[in-house]
Amino acid sequence: MINDHNLPSIALSIKKIAKEMGFQDCGISDTELTDAENFLFQWLKNKFHGEMDYMQKHGSKRSRPNDLIPDTCRVISVRMDYFPPHAKEAWSVINDNTAAFISRYALGRDYHKVLRNRLQKLAKKIEELVGPYQYRVFVDSAPVMEKAIAEKAGLGWIGKHSNLLSRDAGSWFFLGEIYVDIPLPSDETSSFHCGDCTSCIDACPTNAIIAPFQVDARRCISYLTIEHKGPIPVEFRQAMGNRIYGCDDCQLVCPWNRFSEDTAETDFSVRHQLDDVTLLELFNWDETTFLANTEGSAIRRIGYERWQRNIIVALGNSTSSAEIIAALTLKLSNSNDYLAEHIEWSLAQLKNSATFQHP
Ligand code: SF4
Ligand code: SF4
Repeated sequence: MINDHNLPSIALSIKKIAKEMGFQDCGISDTELTDAENFLFQWLKNKFHGEMDYMQKHGSKRSRPNDLIPDTCRVISVRMDYFPPHAKEAWSVINDNTAAFISRYALGRDYHKVLRNRLQKLAKKIEELVGPYQYRVFVDSAPVMEKAIAEKAGLGWIGKHSNLLSRDAGSWFFLGEIYVDIPLPSDETSSFHCGDCTSCIDACPTNAIIAPFQVDARRCISYLTIEHKGPIPVEFRQAMGNRIYGCDDCQLVCPWNRFSEDTAETDFSVRHQLDDVTLLELFNWDETTFLANTEGSAIRRIGYERWQRNIIVALGNSTSSAEIIAALTLKLSNSNDYLAEHIEWSLAQLKNSATFQHP
């Protein structure tokens, strides 16, 4: 039985242990998420979630932790920074239309396993402090309002681009949660520090941030390149540029990311030189190479076909060359209708841009 008087010192110990274990921050919140729930329901009603049916299928379980795990009264949130050290400067990649841009979080190993294993260890350490208790660990795996919870736990505020950001660390971090039945003292909700800034809204290539805090996923390149299974809507193809897995523009322009630090986690270091690779090189990966080179990476979950689809669109946005046209034409001869339609679009784009440059 936990003595209530000990709860403040237990909370301090949990935060200290979390930092010793390699989390950069740790906070505690209660489970009252009415505002976030109202916001979520309106977002779903607007159909901004696109094909992400999992966002609505759990009803109130997402916004009411106690409905998901009975007796949960507090959530311990942790932050783990992921910006990979030595990665090629992002804008120099985005501005080179023959290069492939991959979101910074996906350049290294898949974060789910790294974070979950460490959270499990933290949960066990808490057991050493308090004795048997009820807990569940989450990393992006269940209906959990991780950003709203982390904001309540004081880890940062939800910016106008809808990511969580902190004054000390910007926004290049992952979040994880432990739902617990221990009535620990809650931390203070983070205050808001976007001010009048609109850099993320202005920088979004597809105008997906339709208003502050309102991201229409159906327009978002992250969603389109990762979650969206159908053809990339033609209206967004040019704006995709060379972004073949995710998009970081709204975070790259955020002034608070000046304060972010590279991660020391070797698991998040760049693999297979994915920070500095041409579109053509990746297009030439066959499925076996794709599976081998994306083993243990978040990229693998989109599968080879979506991977190729994204690269094909990006090739259509690149500078025309004999090699690119030959590669696309060869692929066209043995593609299904889905990829063939993207290839035809890209070949037409390249032809138009070549005609424009050499009338
Ligand atoms: S990830 Fe890219 S497309 Fe999506 S909101 Fe941010 S800038 Fe816009
Ligand atoms: S770019 Fe500006 S408005 Fe957008 S999240 Fe950062 S501080 Fe907020």
